[in-house]
Amino acid sequence: MTGKLIDGKAIGQEIREEIKQRVDSLKEKGMQPGLAVILVGDNQASRTYVRNKEKSSIEAGMKSVLIELPETVSEEDLLAQVAELNKDDSIHGILVQLPLPKHIDEDLVIQAIDPDKDVDGFHPINVGKMIIGQRAYLSCTPYGIIKLLERTGTEIRGKHAVIVGRSNIVGKPMGQLLLQRDATVTYCHSKTENLAEFTKQADILIVAIGRAKFITAEHVKDGAVVIDVGMNRDENGKLCGDVEFETAKEKASAITPVPGGVGPMTITMLLKNTLQSAEKACAEGTSA
Ligand code: NDP
Repeated sequence: MTGKLIDGKAIGQEIREEIKQRVDSLKEKGMQPGLAVILVGDNQASRTYVRNKEKSSIEAGMKSVLIELPETVSEEDLLAQVAELNKDDSIHGILVQLPLPKHIDEDLVIQAIDPDKDVDGFHPINVGKMIIGQRAYLSCTPYGIIKLLERTGTEIRGKHAVIVGRSNIVGKPMGQLLLQRDATVTYCHSKTENLAEFTKQADILIVAIGRAKFITAEHVKDGAVVIDVGMNRDENGKLCGDVEFETAKEKASAITPVPGGVGPMTITMLLKNTLQSAEKACAEGTSA
């Protein structure tokens, strides 16, 4: 079996067009969704991610504000910047690009963001609400994966989903969102013994570990849907996922490529969360 390609770029584009239409109708009511991104220091990968977010939000018709702070910025000054954005009615989404320099407490900064503007879905209030099934901003990568599964007509209910990776931003929320959609969920991580025994049971296999081409055909059940979150460089410096695409696709019924799979969906869901925040502010009449 050769797996069908799950085209995250095309699905992301489709959703971005829907977002743009909703942005246009907000603009007709006199309001423009605003996304503020704080970038600390000069990490090149972070800079690239931030640039993509900026470009995408502008393309969607949103206002984009980039706040660049030096590597040496104090925690206090960063928190003050967040507080200012919390008060700014023209900003509906605030994102602090991670990782932050070591002298700054990331948890403290995330908790300083107004949960109503936490479009990354990292604030403990949003994480907690998500887990108990209340309306919340969902972490963009897992949310984007749910959309990929939905838009490709992948059945989730009753299926066995195996998640490799348990980070707070991808693995953990991913499992919860699938559980809410009635999947049976197994989490695997670096201490899991006999990893392949678990992954081979997966109808839906989601891999988010950050190790180039770690998951091979041997880990994949015939007919599985394989979602590769990883973004790594291979031995030639080329962007690649956590899954060895060429071999895994021979067993999968559908598989995401890297690049062009999960990545574009993550940014799309960031735009969607920002739009929803702006729509809420517009309905409540609290926005500039
Ligand atoms: P983290 O490093 O925070 O977490 C990695 C997880 O993988 C941990 O839970 C770790 O286990 C587990 N793990 C590591 N090695 C193994 C192994 N050999 N076997 C099983 N599990 C293992 O990474 P993130 O979740 O932040 O990111 C994962 C990947 O996804 C990265 O490549 C990242 O760049 C990419 N990414 C891509 C995004 C996109 O939009 N496409 C967005 C976010 C991330 P343990 O907990 O035991 O340490």
